[in-house]
Amino acid sequence: MQTRNKTYQYRPPTPSSRRFAKNDSGFVCMNCGELVAPLLTSSRDHCTKCLCSLHCDINPGDRANSCHGILFPIGIERDSKKGIVIIYHCDTCHEYHRCRSAPDDNYDEIVRLASRNK
Ligand SMILES: [Zn+2]
Ligand SMILES: [Zn+2]
Repeated sequence: MQTRNKTYQYRPPTPSSRRFAKNDSGFVCMNCGELVAPLLTSSRDHCTKCLCSLHCDINPGDRANSCHGILFPIGIERDSKKGIVIIYHCDTCHEYHRCRSAPDDNYDEIVRLASRNK
């Protein structure tokens, strides 16, 4: 009885299941629907248009968080080494999260967050 499905067990690897693809793949933004392209130089983790992110990392790029809520940007910090760091608040678990801004982020949105900071 238990051997019934044996012939179906082997599935050839597909591109979406490759081991390293998860750290820098494009995605569709859960908040504004923008199709965000892969960053290539490091891990793409937020939308370039509205800057929203998904709460799926504990450390950047590890995808170890099972929350998967939407992280909304609430402010920015300027770090002497990292440059602009975006501060997020998770809509689902209400944790705070920080992540570096990407070079092609929507600058108007960054400016708006900076003015909200004070
Ligand atoms: Zn977006
Ligand atoms: Zn969360």
